[in-house]
Amino acid sequence: MTDKYAVSCLVRFNSGLGGAGPNDMGFGSFNLFNEPGGHAQGLIFVTLFRAFSAGTVRLAARDPRADPQIDLNMLSDQRDRQRMREGVRRLLQLAAHPAVTSISQDMGIGEVRAEAGLPRHDDLDRWLLARCGTIGHPCGSAPMGSDTDPNAVLDPDCRVRGLQGLRVADASSLPAAPRANNHLSCVMLAEHLAQRMIAPHAQTVDSLPSAGPERPST
Ligand SMILES: Cc1cc2nc3c(=O)[nH]c(=O)nc-3n(C[C@H](O)[C@H](O)[C@H](O)COP(=O)(O)OP(=O)(O)OC[C@H]3O[C@@H](n4cnc5c(N)ncnc54)[C@H](O)[C@@H]3O)c2cc1C
Repeated sequence: MTDKYAVSCLVRFNSGLGGAGPNDMGFGSFNLFNEPGGHAQGLIFVTLFRAFSAGTVRLAARDPRADPQIDLNMLSDQRDRQRMREGVRRLLQLAAHPAVTSISQDMGIGEVRAEAGLPRHDDLDRWLLARCGTIGHPCGSAPMGSDTDPNAVLDPDCRVRGLQGLRVADASSLPAAPRANNHLSCVMLAEHLAQRMIAPHAQTVDSLPSAGPERPST
């Protein structure tokens, strides 16, 4: 690492696609420190929030030290593929804007030259599936939920169903992928649960005020 600053930003937007609601996608950018030939490098990317695609985490063995089998299954839901197809098209438009081209000498999409453009529509899904990544934000593998939710690993107080004395409060507990990067949701979840656990007369979920409507898009 050099003494240079890392600079990044993320702008959320509404794709208007797939019934995903507001703030369901984002454009991000950051600078890179690896500067072959002394050239500064940066990256702009498009990201999907509120993903509908769900993967699996399964035990590989009874040995608790054995790594689990993780299948991310990204972009398996057509609503995610639709949004991502449109997202990369918008990203190319952004990359072609004079504000970007005026500070760029050289541009590439992944490993190919930018001039080559995107693959044809038919091949675009395959192209996306080969290149997409989690950017470190998997979540919801042990979601909380109501008693009637068959997928809820945890109850609304983050207790593991079927076990005594075990709670999970981290990204895996989130019932759905947030409309933002995960960090603040994880902190909020943990802080809220801690408050409930230490409260002398902890409120039941039913007595808590509802979260209210979703925030309008920004
Ligand atoms: C490279 C990267 C960049 C990210 N950037 C952002 C961002 O800009 N904004 C944002 O909102 N989110 C970001 N995220 C996502 C966010 O960091 C995660 O979603 C969030 O940290 C998940 O919280 P967590 O508590 O579930 O897990 P973690 O934050 O991973 O916490 C797990 C903790 O458990 C500890 N641990 C693991 N095994 C053991 C063990 N056996 N015994 C004891 N302790 C153990 C680990 O050391 C770690 O401290 C980023 C993630 C990555 C990987």
